[in-house]
Amino acid sequence: METVILAVVIAVVALAAIGALVVGSRRTKSLPPPPPSAPDITAPPAEPQVGEEAETPREEPRRTIEEVDLPEASAPVAVEEPPAEAPVIEIPEPTAGRLVRLRARLSRSQNALGKGLLTLLSREHLDDDTWEEIEDTLLTADVGVMPTQELVERLRERVKVLGTRTPEQLRGLLREELLTLVGTDFDRTVRTEPETSKPGIVMVVGVNGTGKTTTTGKLARVLVADGRTVVLGAADTFRAAATEQLQTWGDRVGAHTVRGPEGGDPASVAFDAVKEGKDMGADVVLIDTAGRLHTKTGLMDELGKVKRVVEKQAPLDEVLLVLDATTGQNGLVQARVFAEVVDITGIVLTKLDGTAKGGIVVAVQRELGVPVKLIGLGEGADDLAPFEPEAFVDALIGD
Ligand code: GDP
Repeated sequence: METVILAVVIAVVALAAIGALVVGSRRTKSLPPPPPSAPDITAPPAEPQVGEEAETPREEPRRTIEEVDLPEASAPVAVEEPPAEAPVIEIPEPTAGRLVRLRARLSRSQNALGKGLLTLLSREHLDDDTWEEIEDTLLTADVGVMPTQELVERLRERVKVLGTRTPEQLRGLLREELLTLVGTDFDRTVRTEPETSKPGIVMVVGVNGTGKTTTTGKLARVLVADGRTVVLGAADTFRAAATEQLQTWGDRVGAHTVRGPEGGDPASVAFDAVKEGKDMGADVVLIDTAGRLHTKTGLMDELGKVKRVVEKQAPLDEVLLVLDATTGQNGLVQARVFAEVVDITGIVLTKLDGTAKGGIVVAVQRELGVPVKLIGLGEGADDLAPFEPEAFVDALIGD
């Protein structure tokens, strides 16, 4: 019996020993690696958890697109130091014949209006439906209701008198009637030569986005190309970057830009610009203004003040209203509002390169009784042309 008990005890002890060995080996395998004695400096820092204030220094904030890819027009204001090298002054191209050079840009209006009308007029039978189509073509091109009716009436009469029509006769007839509509009697010169003493003062007004600042810059180039000295007044102090944008235009042609703080008083910038223009003996001061059409009263207060402040020193020679030709009826509404606030003396129609609605030239002149003096035909620096009725109509109906 004792032997049996002894054997059992030996067996139990042996089993326990084996079990301990197996568990021990498993534990050894599952043990985590020992912590490194020194921190691994190549490892990236742990991401801070939400709500945990990172004690390690934060990464540099990401730069915005504007900061990274600086377009000239929105360079930061802080850069006051003069450039190391003298800036290269551009010599803008002369203005004569610009409209002829840019006539291809009117191709959309050309196809929709000029060629459209010629095709319709060339039909063998000019019945009521055809005349209605002619009317629609004119209305679609934004010629306006009254001018359209006048033109259709005149064309109907003259075509009847003509009897059989050759394409050449039709072209000549349409050219004449379109020219009458556009008007050849207006004085379309931009008045920059003052009656009394220098400088001539031009104020540029219009709703933001119409191309007001761009037009002011392009006009500065036109004047410089004509041998005039120009001072720019950056009185659109409300639109971020408008001042920078204008200064860039000025710098390119060596025109001095007078500027104020962003959000500052536009009238005080305009005042300073005229004063500096006088002191420097400049030929022309061009004042870009703020175009916030928030309320008519607000606009009236703002523009009225700029005008009054400028006129304390010298009379305004020209007030140019910039309208975006692509906005159609909306542009006409803007024109009405501005005309109530300031005495518009000339219209600049921009973006005529991007629209088939060249007829707006006629409509807006009728609306304000003021001539279109300049047209914008692209975003290029010299894509602003003096408005010449003959060249414009020729471009519309093609040669
Ligand atoms: P502002 O807010 O009225 O001063 O407008 P900007 O002068 O900044 O112009 C607004 C945009 O219209 C810019 O992208 C200009 O390049 C563009 N622009 C101005 N005039 C013309 C033009 O005649 N044709 C085209 N295609 N774009 C133009």
